[in-house]
Amino acid sequence: MPDKVTARFKQILSELPEDKKRALYKRLSGIPADGRDSFIRQFVLKYDAGNTVKPKMNGSKHADRNIGRRVTAIVAAVLSLILIVKIISRRNDIAQMFSSLSRQTGISQSDSPESAADDGSSCENQGLEESQEPVSTDLTSATDTGVAQETSVTPTPVPLKNDHPDLSGLVIVIDPGHQAETDSDTETLAPDSTIVKPRCTSGAVGVSTNAREYEITLEVGLIAKSYLEECGADVIITRDTNDIDLSNQERANLAVAANPDIYIRLHADASPESETSGVRVFIPEDGSFVAEDTSLADQLGAIVAGNQGVNYLGTFATDAYTGLNYASSIRSFQLVMGYISNSDDEKRLTDSESQYELAVSIADFCALIK
Ligand SMILES: [Zn+2]
Repeated sequence: MPDKVTARFKQILSELPEDKKRALYKRLSGIPADGRDSFIRQFVLKYDAGNTVKPKMNGSKHADRNIGRRVTAIVAAVLSLILIVKIISRRNDIAQMFSSLSRQTGISQSDSPESAADDGSSCENQGLEESQEPVSTDLTSATDTGVAQETSVTPTPVPLKNDHPDLSGLVIVIDPGHQAETDSDTETLAPDSTIVKPRCTSGAVGVSTNAREYEITLEVGLIAKSYLEECGADVIITRDTNDIDLSNQERANLAVAANPDIYIRLHADASPESETSGVRVFIPEDGSFVAEDTSLADQLGAIVAGNQGVNYLGTFATDAYTGLNYASSIRSFQLVMGYISNSDDEKRLTDSESQYELAVSIADFCALIK
């Protein structure tokens, strides 16, 4: 696709209100990969035509009246919408509304690439520790007690550092790994693979305080979304609640449909070795950006580890993760922010100041792409 169309599409994305953006991603995710370019081209054409064409003036009073009626109707509709949104936002319920809407319509289950389970699968390639990732045994109570509801919040502004980067013009997709409930239905590991894996797992459980990986990733993800947006980026987060069923494949599809500059999957995994601590990055083995990504991923790992005062454990190109395999056409990074099988890492990753600093370091990394 010509760069001009891509650039214009990104610009339109940044102008669209959140609900329109979500609807657009939903449509895009339902279109086969080879049809997306033409859809995007058509979309840009129609969008620009719709925004520049002026109503025809033929001098007829009848036509004027029609236009007048339409304008009145549109104004009334917009005012009603603003009123509804104001009422709802006062109740701080927007996030819950989105998640319950998508559940009622079954969107997040099948059509929408909005959430994905983490690749809770083993990392067969390098014999890395993720294979030992413990699975939460108390999922039902976590959901039933409303824990998931409480974390379903609209991101609030976070303080900007004085030396924050300017990320305007960048489109960034953040995927907070895992979700409250494991979905053991399966999906294929890669587009051309017959190997299947669970759609999504709940992820690791902390060794000292039973911290949940899916909660940590959402907390960091929401702070990062706010921070990156305040730096000027257009940010899409694949989930804003723990109470969701979004497979790794669906998360990847959502990311690809957004045509982002950067796709970052957030994880806080477990290792069989309790002393394992630090930051690690995974990238897709056969990604379009694999050569460039290796050096970028090294920089991501080094920036985040330096910021957190922990070891950088290296970057690994792998085909073990569904969420990376289906997003190999874009710049994809799976950032393991630490290992909650290690008590120091668990303490760090559940500390709000450290979570904020993680967001700051992610923003510093994104500035490298500009
Ligand atoms: Zn994980």
